[in-house]
Amino acid sequence: MPTAETPLLSSVLNNQVPVLIGDQWCQRDSCFNVTNPATGDLLARVAECSAEDTRTAVAAAEEAGKTWKLVPARQRASILRRWFELVTRHADELARLMTLEQGKPLAEALGEVTYGASFIEFFSEEAKRIAGETLPGHGPDKRTLVLREPVGVVAAITPWNFPLAMITRKCAPAIAAGCTVVIKPAEATPLTALAVARLAREAGVPAGVINVVAASSPAAVGEVLSTDPRVRKLSFTGSTAVGKKLLAQCASTVKKTAMELGGNAPFIVFDDADLDAAVDGAIASKFRNAGQTCVCTNRFLVQSGVYNAFTEKLAARVAGLKVGNGLDAEVTIGPLINSGAIDKVQRHIDDAVSKGARIVTGGRPHEMGPGFFSPTVLADVTPDMIVAGEETFGPLAPVFRFDTPEQAIAMANDTPSGLAAYLYATDYRRIWHTLEGLEYGMVGVNDGLISTELAPFGGVKESGLGREGSHHGLDEFTELKYVCLGGL
Ligand code: NAP
Repeated sequence: MPTAETPLLSSVLNNQVPVLIGDQWCQRDSCFNVTNPATGDLLARVAECSAEDTRTAVAAAEEAGKTWKLVPARQRASILRRWFELVTRHADELARLMTLEQGKPLAEALGEVTYGASFIEFFSEEAKRIAGETLPGHGPDKRTLVLREPVGVVAAITPWNFPLAMITRKCAPAIAAGCTVVIKPAEATPLTALAVARLAREAGVPAGVINVVAASSPAAVGEVLSTDPRVRKLSFTGSTAVGKKLLAQCASTVKKTAMELGGNAPFIVFDDADLDAAVDGAIASKFRNAGQTCVCTNRFLVQSGVYNAFTEKLAARVAGLKVGNGLDAEVTIGPLINSGAIDKVQRHIDDAVSKGARIVTGGRPHEMGPGFFSPTVLADVTPDMIVAGEETFGPLAPVFRFDTPEQAIAMANDTPSGLAAYLYATDYRRIWHTLEGLEYGMVGVNDGLISTELAPFGGVKESGLGREGSHHGLDEFTELKYVCLGGL
């Protein structure tokens, strides 16, 4: 049974935690607080990095890259494999740390450790399969080769909602490809990031190949990571607003970018759907991490014939969710990340109700305390309400009504976002025509849980650029070099 005394936890909890730059774990006079969103308790203080620290980390990454890219693929693979094994061995501690700083229920945190570790395992295997090509030459004396080379120094800026998996989903393929990384974790959740980096170093990832710079005011660090010419790729996961800003900043040095941004996922339920399966999928896709995932359903679009039945079944299940501190094994909905998140859920509900929506269950903050919100179902929701256009990022399920499949597709696509969409139906023609019509990077058909290391994760439209996971995730960290061998 893990306790707060186990080494990984005791290295961070109640401590002043250093950041990782090159071969040094660095303390700083200036630190910022990391608190538990369930209780408000202080967990640790973390060294605050400056722009200068960030430049030092980039220099360390650049230097380390000169030798890391030459390390044979099999050796890179076995170091990554050891990292995977260490993360797996420390799964209970990492999950506990994650619940403490992020709030998600312990079972979900453990699920994230497994999910995050799966990227390290997958890319440890893929490291041995980075292959070039020979193509037909364009003359009798010419031969054409295509080499795959690491892009170089990668900056990884990550959000608080998946404090571990968003880091491994970027760093494992980058390191497998022979790149080096500078990570900027979210201010709210740097402890899991630093613990995972500690395990990477313990596994044999060389100094400078992985660096972590933490900060409470991200702009200065972000500016270096997006403008320093030594950084060749910026991989960002977070909000669309910050992503757009970073994209603009990256233009000055024409960096490769990967942008995993916000969503506004529709969940379409047709008249012929298996309603019990749809409600299972709805709970999984909407209420995981208290509604704080980018692929969380934001809008339930339900056909008129099953509208009342689906809404009642969903509300009955939602009313049974247990809200509380994620360390309590019974809890299925933890706290939201901060008071701003609570305010946003309340604002979406108040706006919808003022325009005619009906609260079926929930609708207000939870008596557990200031960080908690009651899981909510709203009926009679219409496209003029704020919740139709803004990602709520909280435990609110608004249910819209539609009549025809064409209407459902038009409503689903009526957003600048295009990350994940879900649909529940049994008629295969309806399923096929609908999934073809959806302008989304990912579609779950009769399934509410779609994330896996085996598939390419990512969005279209303003939800982003690039893919993470699967062999496509590795391509993001390599450049093609075409060689024309002439005079043969
Ligand atoms: P966020 O506010 O955009 O923050 C994401 C990261 O960017 C954090 O590390 C943040 O640092 C940093 N940041 C903020 N301003 C910056 C700046 N000016 N320069 C450089 N870095 C800056 O997003 P969030 O609230 O943490 O995460 C929630 C959002 O992420 C949602 O929209 C969600 O949909 C999206 N998301 C997308 C995916 C995906 O794969 N598509 C996955 C998960 C989440 P601080 O923490 O210090 O502010």
